[in-house]
Amino acid sequence: MAFEIICRPVLGDNYAVLIHCPLTGKTAAIDAASETAYDGVLAETGWRIDMILITHHHGDHTDGIGALKQRFGAEVIGPEGERDKIVGLDRTVGGGERIALGAQNLEIIDTPGHTLGHIAYFDPAGKNLFSADALFSLGCGRMFEGTPGPMWAGLEKLRDLPDETEVYCGHEYSAANAKFALSVDPDNPALVARAAEIARLRADNKPTVPFNLGIDKAANPFLRADDPALAARMGLAGANPGDVFGAIRKAKDNF
Ligand code: ZN
Ligand code: FE
Repeated sequence: MAFEIICRPVLGDNYAVLIHCPLTGKTAAIDAASETAYDGVLAETGWRIDMILITHHHGDHTDGIGALKQRFGAEVIGPEGERDKIVGLDRTVGGGERIALGAQNLEIIDTPGHTLGHIAYFDPAGKNLFSADALFSLGCGRMFEGTPGPMWAGLEKLRDLPDETEVYCGHEYSAANAKFALSVDPDNPALVARAAEIARLRADNKPTVPFNLGIDKAANPFLRADDPALAARMGLAGANPGDVFGAIRKAKDNF
């Protein structure tokens, strides 16, 4: 039986995601945006937070750890690479490991770059990816730590996941991402279509998350750094994809 997943906007532009195993009743929060971020859903569903799955050390993903842990006795799991930066971790994990939530497993994928130890969680049975700030619709996290090569390699691993994967990311940044993406890849029909869909959804005040990974593979310039046409547009024909990715990331920072 697949996970039940509920995703709600909190703190302005963050998303608070809960995943629930209906067989066992176990529930995990992806990150801990704040103490109160999950209250609405918990009241509606009667779920309790048994586990907190941290993706990276930033406060908008970790500020709720202490209070939620105290309130629910939740087990807190997070990235091995950020063991020293996150208070309250009970267990750390790294790329390639699996963890159980109730009757099902989640796979850990290393996605360094936004922060050095950033990880994503993938549900292989239901094909859901919890990418936090590694991958957004039509974008990726700002590269605060690390270098373009490893960040590109992490995004390639996410791109290798099945097209039907639904992506739950950490923020509603899609409209701003679409503007930048169109500036570097204006003739890409998949991007033009997704940007129009995002504009429609946001005009109705609707979320653009979760989003389909297959569409994003075709539309998101940060997943297309190895496309020769995009490399040429960046003035980097023949360059290695990590360098093209770095140039796209830098262009977005200055956009
Ligand atoms: Zn972050
Ligand atoms: Fe964030």
